[in-house]
Amino acid sequence: MASGLGDLRTVVISVGNELLFGSTVDTNSAWLGRELAALGLPVSRRYTVRDDADEIRAAVAAGMSCSELVLVTGGLGPTHDDITRGTVSEMLGLPLKVDPGRLLQLQERFRQRGYDVLPEANRSQAEIPEGACVLDNPLGTAPGLAMESDGVLLVLLPGVPREMRAIFGGDLGALLRDRFSGRLAPVVHRMLHTTGVPESKLAEVIRAAFPDPAAYLGDGMSMAFLPDLRGVDLRLSVAHASAGEAESALNRAESALAPLVAPWRFDSESGDLAEAVLVALRRGRNTLAVAESCTAGIVSTRLTEHAGSSDVFVGGVVAYSNGVKQALLGVTTVALESGGAVSEVVAQQMALGVREAVGADVGVAITGIAGPGGGSQEKPIGTVWLAVSTDGGVRTECVLFTGDREAVRERAAQAALSLVLASVGHPSSRH
Ligand code: ATP
Repeated sequence: MASGLGDLRTVVISVGNELLFGSTVDTNSAWLGRELAALGLPVSRRYTVRDDADEIRAAVAAGMSCSELVLVTGGLGPTHDDITRGTVSEMLGLPLKVDPGRLLQLQERFRQRGYDVLPEANRSQAEIPEGACVLDNPLGTAPGLAMESDGVLLVLLPGVPREMRAIFGGDLGALLRDRFSGRLAPVVHRMLHTTGVPESKLAEVIRAAFPDPAAYLGDGMSMAFLPDLRGVDLRLSVAHASAGEAESALNRAESALAPLVAPWRFDSESGDLAEAVLVALRRGRNTLAVAESCTAGIVSTRLTEHAGSSDVFVGGVVAYSNGVKQALLGVTTVALESGGAVSEVVAQQMALGVREAVGADVGVAITGIAGPGGGSQEKPIGTVWLAVSTDGGVRTECVLFTGDREAVRERAAQAALSLVLASVGHPSSRH
């Protein structure tokens, strides 16, 4: 079995029919993945199995054959389908024994809840595999159990997420730090946020500069492209025993990538471009008003999701109909008749109009065709006009977004935020 720094392998097994039916989302595995990586025991493999002894045995055997730490969540409760404890103890040849101390604890717990007699089903929760270490569950009746077998630490945890987390935050975390001391290599991440550029283009730009990824990633570092409707995040990850050395390695990689991604990059603690916009507005002591047609409030919602946005976000108008565009934003009949509601001049008038209507330094407007209807040869679905009005003039942009209605609206809102950022404080931002 390997024993060097950073070569520890961890396997997580989640047990439960409901996880496979899809009626419960397996949040335990995701949470454990994050916590174990941060602790220095990154998960290398995961299994999800039914409440079935053969399935549990197969997953545990597979996990033990390739790792030094196996964590199993679920199936420790008192009901007939909770079979993890019995299956694992039998498999490892560690007979279940009633722990008198735990039995008393359980009886006391039930007495406090008004039961004189401990329900028979709950007695099983006082049964501990011989030699197992009991991990205190401060929030429930099923404790965690840790046992050694063939050099592997096997840990059983309840499925109830808050109970599992409480055990991890208490006894289990302490046990893992102690047991694997000197071999922990916490994984540290760094995010580079970009918007307005497809994943393939980013990859191409980076590949052109560095045909060999080792030239910018360095030893043991990995990089993931994480695209969604709003943009692409580059996540750099490195596992290192020393936090200082991990930071230095990440700094080196970031310095190499920074000039390549600069045209599309934005900084934001939350990863949300709306936050970067608020910061830029604050820095320039500017206020913002929003006029939204096809996005109908998405930009305003995203800005106001951030606490404290009221110091720069003044308000806005959802101008869905032409009537509202005219009555509240001063869009002219001539503009509507000559170019239609989705046109440069209407976007310009909306941006100017909302700025004046609410008395803001900056006005942003979005008018477009989100689909599925309303497209034409001249203006296909996905056509969106954006405008930002400032003291320096009006900046406009026409973008043809791909995707369904949701994608077009989400992308249009993101592009509008990007145009505001480019107009007030981020000269290199573009689409
Ligand atoms: P209990 O003592 O409540 O029976 P248990 O250890 O037997 O706990 P399960 O019966 O498997 O756990 O699950 C209890 C509840 O916890 C489930 O109803 C489900 O809502 C939730 N749960 C179980 N496993 C997971 C998981 N992997 N991710 C998220 N939630 C889970």
